[in-house]
Amino acid sequence: MNNDRQLTAALVAGISVVAIFGALKHWKYSQEWNEFIVQEALPAEGLLLGYFQYPEAAEADLAVVEPGLRIHKDAYTALISMRAAANDDGVELILLSGFQSHEWQKKIFFAIKSDKDSKAIERANAFAPPGYSEHSTGYAIDLGDGSSRNSDFEIDFESTEAFHWLQDNASKFGFVLSFPNANIQGVRYQPWHWRFEGTETAKRQFRQPNELTGKIK
Ligand SMILES: [Zn+2]
Repeated sequence: MNNDRQLTAALVAGISVVAIFGALKHWKYSQEWNEFIVQEALPAEGLLLGYFQYPEAAEADLAVVEPGLRIHKDAYTALISMRAAANDDGVELILLSGFQSHEWQKKIFFAIKSDKDSKAIERANAFAPPGYSEHSTGYAIDLGDGSSRNSDFEIDFESTEAFHWLQDNASKFGFVLSFPNANIQGVRYQPWHWRFEGTETAKRQFRQPNELTGKIK
């Protein structure tokens, strides 16, 4: 009887410790985000470190391209057709990433932040701040070249056959390069990152960057 009571007390204590740590972690997380917003936001231009804010695609609007990789269902056929067309030309397009939830972006962003020397602005060069990534919409994709995997997420990707093929053909499938070299948004050049604007709804999502670049008025 006594032993049982001790065991129960130990269990309750254990569970409490786990719960308290969980709550603390969550608190730290939101504190970091609030600090980040206060210090880094540029509300006057509606931009955060050069990025615009994007809503998260609804689960029902996402289609699985391959395990762990989903994109907006409206971009699905375009992507599959584009990959097939590239393949016909001897180019293997690798889908490196598609939809990313805000929660996932937060985890990645603050995981990088925990490296003491990295500043928010440097991190944003690699990853948009959580909630500010085109990947949230499900319309943005990162592409690699099957014959040059060393160039995945590297500027060198611009020298691959895949990139040259995309420059010539991506627009036929509704895909545009989001962050060309020296883009007016001030976001790091990302030759691997393309967004789908092949439907009116998709185009509407990217009204802000397209207004900035003068593509739409
Ligand atoms: Zn990307």
